[in-house]
Amino acid sequence: PGTNVAVLGLGAMGQALAAAFLGAGHRTTVWNRTTGKAKSLVEGGAHEAATVEQAVAAAPLVVVCLLDNAVVTDVLAGTDVAGRTVVNLTNGTPRQARELAESFACRGAEYVDGGIMAVPPGIGTDQALLLYSGSQPAFDRYRDTLAVLGTPQFLGTEPGLAALSDLALLTGMYGLFGGALQAFALAGSGGVAARDFVPMLQQWLAAMATNLPRFAEEIDTGDYATGVVSNLAMQAAAFPNLIHVSREQGLRPDLLMPLHALMTERVAGGHGAEDFTGIVELIRTPEENK
Ligand code: NDP
Repeated sequence: PGTNVAVLGLGAMGQALAAAFLGAGHRTTVWNRTTGKAKSLVEGGAHEAATVEQAVAAAPLVVVCLLDNAVVTDVLAGTDVAGRTVVNLTNGTPRQARELAESFACRGAEYVDGGIMAVPPGIGTDQALLLYSGSQPAFDRYRDTLAVLGTPQFLGTEPGLAALSDLALLTGMYGLFGGALQAFALAGSGGVAARDFVPMLQQWLAAMATNLPRFAEEIDTGDYATGVVSNLAMQAAAFPNLIHVSREQGLRPDLLMPLHALMTERVAGGHGAEDFTGIVELIRTPEENK
């Protein structure tokens, strides 16, 4: 027997989530602020609720995927959620997750926060990873239902844990994406098309990613000095060439500047003989103590 599930929010992601529940045979009720987005879902057997209240009343499991958590708070304000499990897959910060968990607990609902590590077409495939944290009983109860969206990983009962890992993964991703754009632009400035450069870049980045376990070890032990093969002073001396070449080629070096500043500061602090990873010590300084 399927689960009764309500999906609030039919943006690109909400539609993919609702379609996955429907496809797995769950009785799915959908709601969206703007009407018209439920058409194909309704044709596939979904029930469209006219109001949030009706959607929440229709199902014990309420999956929310809206633009941001301010919208989540607004949309569910004043709706009776007592006895419901709210699984919020909207992107947000750990603090927001904790605040939502507390507020829903006060209103008699169980709260699970989630992070979707997939794009909408990836939902329901092996490629999708979904991170969860918050109410363990609620997660356990709906684990199999949620598994139709993608591989579920429960990170713990502290509600902010999923958002923290989600944002940490996205932080790593944007470093990679930003670096790749600068690299494509630089190669392109010399007449090399991105499609011709991509095999070399992809292979290089994959090879560089193999450094991460060593980085992790150095970061966990706080020992940035043992086993150094490329010391920071040497890297900091070469790094300005990355900035100069962008300028020479008529490109903006903006993305490179903050990393250069941190490398220089770390060397000036007497850590030039250590590894690149020691920069994490500067990152760990609150902005007001800079
Ligand atoms: P969309 O922009 O496609 O959809 C946004 C949704 O939020 C729509 O349902 C929209 O309703 C609703 N909304 C916006 N403002 C309001 C409001 N003031 N009141 C009520 N409803 C509102 O975004 P996605 O579906 O792509 O993303 C949803 C969430 O999923 C985001 O938090 C996003 O970060 C996250 N996510 C998205 C991924 C992606 O690749 N798309 C990947 C991983 C996470 P309406 O139709 O009426 O405008």
